Amino acid sequence: MSTMISHVSEHCELKPLPRPDRRLHNSRVQINQGILKSVTRLNYDTLQLVVKCDEGSPPISSRAGQYATLHTPDLTKARAYSFARAPENENPNEHTFFVRVVHGGEFSSWLAEKDRSGAPITISGPLGKFGLDASDRTMVCIAGGSGMSAIKALLESAANLKVKRDCIFLYGGRAQRDLYCSEEIAAIGKNWNKDYKFEFVQVLSDEPEDSNWAGARGFVTEYFKSTYLDSGKMSVNNCKAFFCGPPPMIDAGAEILKNAGMDERDIHFDKFEDARSPAPVIDNTKCVLCDECLMVKPTANCIVEVSRLIKTETSDFAGYERVDPAYTSGLYYNTLFIDSKACIRCYACVEACPAHAISPEHDKTPRTLRQTIS
Ligand SMILES: Cc1cc2nc3c(=O)[nH]c(=O)nc-3n(C[C@H](O)[C@H](O)[C@H](O)COP(=O)(O)OP(=O)(O)OC[C@H]3O[C@@H](n4cnc5c(N)ncnc54)[C@H](O)[C@@H]3O)c2cc1C
Ligand code: SF4
Ligand code: SF4
Repeated sequence: MSTMISHVSEHCELKPLPRPDRRLHNSRVQINQGILKSVTRLNYDTLQLVVKCDEGSPPISSRAGQYATLHTPDLTKARAYSFARAPENENPNEHTFFVRVVHGGEFSSWLAEKDRSGAPITISGPLGKFGLDASDRTMVCIAGGSGMSAIKALLESAANLKVKRDCIFLYGGRAQRDLYCSEEIAAIGKNWNKDYKFEFVQVLSDEPEDSNWAGARGFVTEYFKSTYLDSGKMSVNNCKAFFCGPPPMIDAGAEILKNAGMDERDIHFDKFEDARSPAPVIDNTKCVLCDECLMVKPTANCIVEVSRLIKTETSDFAGYERVDPAYTSGLYYNTLFIDSKACIRCYACVEACPAHAISPEHDKTPRTLRQTIS
């Protein structure tokens, strides 16, 4: 945007406008610098990280169930991780996360490669809406893999609050080596409101038949269906579901509950989407300029205002020209664009958009109503 005004006297020196930092519109998120205080192994493929924010940093006031993004200068972009402890159980300005090591995963492999204690880290949060509701219905919690994190935080918080409700927590893994946090969950059970039940069941899908495992077997969601719903032990009318972990597990669990007659609004979940999930696309024709997606986006460059999309002979999309975020007019009519390379698949924008203008199911060809250049 030009700052030159032709009729101003040549003796009057024009100073540039102060540049507000509009890279991250998100006013609900605190961005702190800190270090990885410790990295410890929970099982063969899951690490526990404790991030310590720098002395004097403003607190990141999260609710149990929310997540933060972690970024280190060694890597290209941030990743999302759920807080693994209730905030009131943490040391001041420390945050605990569980990270499952993924083969070839940029962040998780970097963590597992060697002792990263002391490495600088940027933490941004709190993000996400997953959390405890105000109901007194039985909590049905189902987690798989590192989905233990958000459910454990939620249960710690519910136990601290002495909620007046029963709880059943089913944790699904393949084999005994996948199990972890058994003692912490037992401690939550001991801290649970004494007038209500707390049940913890570990369910293994691939444990060898002849092993010493005497516990539950099968896929965790199927086990829940046959043991609790089909048997009449539990009715969907008096429970609320809290699922956390890999998307296929959550989809399977939600399907079972919906088929049993549970209202979708009673199913709360935190899906750990990853780089394999599609990035959402904005349909600018539906956008009503409400700013909600910009208020919840977890990284500076995932949703950007573009002036032009660049085309080549061989590709419909070869990049974009970005409006300088320091000098944008704020009138982003027809210019919002999701950069799939910067998007971390948190789907916060999809949930936030009141106009249903953002979806991973929209046509993938990037598009604004502005002209495309070649
Ligand atoms: C809201 C939210 C909360 C999350 N919370 C957690 C959490 O608490 N703990 C946690 O461990 N993760 C969590 N995730 C997932 C996390 O953000 C990363 O996607 C994950 O850790 C992989 O990052 P990476 O850098 O190691 O792999 P990337 O470099 O992002 O991926 C590299 C490749 O690995 C493959 N890959 C990625 N993830 C998986 C996987 N799970 N299984 C198999 N292959 C995979 C893909 O092919 C991908 O192309 C969360 C995600 C979201 C959106
Ligand atoms: S899903 Fe939306 S809010 Fe989340 S990183 Fe991608 S563009 Fe940003
Ligand atoms: S949330 Fe939806 S309607 Fe609001 S600015 Fe973003 S795309 Fe537009």
